[in-house]
Amino acid sequence: MYCKDCKFYKFYREDDIWDDSNFTKTGRTIKLGECTNEKIRYTDQMENDDELIYYDSEDYSAALYVGELFGCVHFEGK
Ligand code: SF4
Repeated sequence: MYCKDCKFYKFYREDDIWDDSNFTKTGRTIKLGECTNEKIRYTDQMENDDELIYYDSEDYSAALYVGELFGCVHFEGK
C-alpha cells in the first residue's frame, strides 16, 4: 500500500523542480510525487472525518507531495 503503486500518485517527470536532471544534480535519493486524492486537499474547512486538509499562511495554494514509500488508508491500486 505504497503511494508509488496508488492511482492517485503522480510523479511529474516534466516538473521544473523535481525532474530527472535536478534530481540527479541535487543528489536527492528520495523521489516524491503529488497525491491527487480529493480526500487530501488544500482548504481550511474539513468536511468529513476521513480526510486530511492542509493550508498555508498566505491562503493561496499548495501542492501535496508524498514520498514513494508513504501510504494511507485511501490507497487504491493503479
Ligand atoms: S497519500 Fe494515500 S491516496 Fe495519496 S497517493 Fe499516497 S496512498 Fe494514494
